[in-house]
Amino acid sequence: MKLSQRITKLNGEGDDGWSVFYRARALKAAGAPIVELTIGEHDIRTHGDILAAMNASAIGGHTGYAMVPGVKSLRETVANRIQERTGVPTGPENVMITPGGQSALFSSHYAVCNPGDAALYLDPYYATYPGTLRAAGAIPRVVHTRAEDAFQPRGEDIAAQAQGAVSLLINSPNNPTGTVYSRATLGGIADVCKAHDLWLISDEVYDTQVWDGSHISPRSLPDMAERTLVVGSMSKSHAMTGSRCGWIVGPEEVIDRLIDLATNTTYGVPGFIQDAANFALHQGPAFEDAVAEPFRRRRALAAEIIAAQNTVTLIPAQGAMYMMLDVRATGLSGEAFANGLLDECQIAVMPGESFGTSAAGHIRVAMTIEDGAFAKALKDLCGFAEKHAG
Ligand code: PLP
Repeated sequence: MKLSQRITKLNGEGDDGWSVFYRARALKAAGAPIVELTIGEHDIRTHGDILAAMNASAIGGHTGYAMVPGVKSLRETVANRIQERTGVPTGPENVMITPGGQSALFSSHYAVCNPGDAALYLDPYYATYPGTLRAAGAIPRVVHTRAEDAFQPRGEDIAAQAQGAVSLLINSPNNPTGTVYSRATLGGIADVCKAHDLWLISDEVYDTQVWDGSHISPRSLPDMAERTLVVGSMSKSHAMTGSRCGWIVGPEEVIDRLIDLATNTTYGVPGFIQDAANFALHQGPAFEDAVAEPFRRRRALAAEIIAAQNTVTLIPAQGAMYMMLDVRATGLSGEAFANGLLDECQIAVMPGESFGTSAAGHIRVAMTIEDGAFAKALKDLCGFAEKHAG
């Protein structure tokens, strides 16, 4: 029996450097002591108080079908949070709760792109982006950013690709680069969106993890609320990756259509998960800072270790739980570096090439293991780099 091309072509061609990740997983499964600095998952679990709220909700009977757009109280909480942070008037009618940010990314593109429309995205990118755009029926069209700009996108580079495109997907704080887009960058992006009549899909799932500068939501820029869909999530801010709870914030008429899509696909998010998310969002900024704190600490630790050697260059992470290291001085590609590091030091990192071509010659290090082990792994990584550069 044949499968559809839609699904067989979803992932595009080649493994894009992900073979290192799968090799590391296989070695670990076979019992090798692999240090994993690969994917974006906290080393803490969801807080017990959030789990208690989830349990109380489930025991209290919130286990039936929940309202498809999300329970009213959570939609209100998200709307208030966004309004407080951005100053943009936002009500529950502007919010739809989704099964995670991933589903929100798919649904947003499904809402604005017709089959075959070009959808812009920026390289380096979160690994699923091109597949998500294809799943929504769009044709992904890449815009490259540059290491020498610390991966802040240039408006003119986006404009050069914008002819005939209908949407632009951005992500700040950025995975994989850790870049937080400046006001100037976002102003340039807003100008291009207005000039080329693009929808802006703004993935802000790392908005509580900012180490340097501040997070600006482009929905708050002049005349942008009407053309921006914001993607948010509980995954990174509250260590709730497995709960699958996120949202889309946008114009009411788009949210109404998105509810039609959810009615015919996911049929909403479990009520007890939404009640737990609502409880979590009411714990306030100190709670969110505590979830983010280990990454802030490890970022500082990494800066010290990298400063003590001359081979590897740090792209200073301004946000999110990753950092990019430029390893070009070793003469190795990011992929060769990651493969060698896995074989010689049992340390798994992601080659920059897994996130597109703009980060070739770089590696992404997830700051997701305990401080002592993290520092040791980084020192070993630097030793490996020095040996190969020498
Ligand atoms: N967007 C970015 C940039 C991510 O890195 C991730 C997960 O790693 C997601 C979206 C999806 O997150 P979730 O579906 O868990 O909310």
